[in-house]
Amino acid sequence: MYKMTKIGYMKNYFSILLIICVVNFLSASEDTKTKNDPPTKKKAFVVMIDPGHGGRDTGTPGTGRYKTTEKDIALDVSLALGKMLKKIPNVKVIYTRTKDTYPTLQNRAIVTNKKKADLFISIHCNAQPGKKGTAYGSETFVLGLSKNKANLEVAKRENSVILMEDNYEETYGGFDPSSPESLISLIIMQEEYLDQSIEIASYIQKEFKTTGKRKDRGVKQAGFWVLSKTYMPSVLVELGFLTHKKEEDFLNSKKGKSVMTKSLYNAVKKYISLHMDTSNEEEITEEETEEVKTSKVYKGITFKVQLAASSKKMATKSYNFKGLDQISREKVNKIYRYFYGKTSDYEEIKRMKEEAVRKGYKDCYIVAYKKGTKISLAEALK
Ligand SMILES: [Zn+2]
Repeated sequence: MYKMTKIGYMKNYFSILLIICVVNFLSASEDTKTKNDPPTKKKAFVVMIDPGHGGRDTGTPGTGRYKTTEKDIALDVSLALGKMLKKIPNVKVIYTRTKDTYPTLQNRAIVTNKKKADLFISIHCNAQPGKKGTAYGSETFVLGLSKNKANLEVAKRENSVILMEDNYEETYGGFDPSSPESLISLIIMQEEYLDQSIEIASYIQKEFKTTGKRKDRGVKQAGFWVLSKTYMPSVLVELGFLTHKKEEDFLNSKKGKSVMTKSLYNAVKKYISLHMDTSNEEEITEEETEEVKTSKVYKGITFKVQLAASSKKMATKSYNFKGLDQISREKVNKIYRYFYGKTSDYEEIKRMKEEAVRKGYKDCYIVAYKKGTKISLAEALK
């Protein structure tokens, strides 16, 4: 029925999406059936789990009563979910991050596509704008047009992490997270996966309601950058509101995390069982965990993390530097400078700096050298 020529494709597509919104087809209470089952079922299944945010991008801080923020809860639930899913035969789990690091949204999408994942799940926590703190409950998003203000706000907030990235204007081709027009420009290519994205999203919401005993805010559509660039069924999960005290307590608790993990697991397992060919007795994949490692190499430049400067000469051993290895020393005007790491990869050195900060070198910073001469970081990154 929806067979159409390329001309008029976009126009028709937009109208279809609008109709979908109007009739509220996405109500979670409605049982969504897979209308277009893939012709061939997969013999192995790759799940890409994307813990939202990370590193200097903390995500929502919630009420501020906890040291942990959105990025921590997202990571805990993601790792626990992956651990459970890996036990299913022939299921492979990959993460966009397994530590407190920040892969750019672009890199998350690139690697997910490269790994040919069969399902992409981005895990987040919600925040209500303003100080009311009354909104609570769980919701799952698929990519789509939304005229609903609240949905737009969620997409804006999740997309806005882009603004924290270096050179975001270049990377995201003028994409402006705060403009509705920019959001609309994202709605491409995902149509092919929309049915299946809605299918997994409804399983997730059903589980949040039954297993998780959460308020079901439903399956929703909005323009999320990361969902628009992954070419497989993709959902973005908002576990709950960290701006809601009770829900924040729940999501920070061990029990809360485990209940949410179990809900996600049940939903993904159901989806996999319907989309994977389980007749294959032989196990063909070993357990594997990978992490997206991004890199940005600057030829001829060496980056290091300066940890400390002192008049005291110390051995460059890890026991002198809170367990960090790869320590080097440089003497300038009777002062010894101590460095951690040595690489031409700027992404790598940023990871190393984060590690140094975690170890207690709160004031450490990245320095750059060209042919052995120190240059400013700005110059090195040109
Ligand atoms: Zn988020």
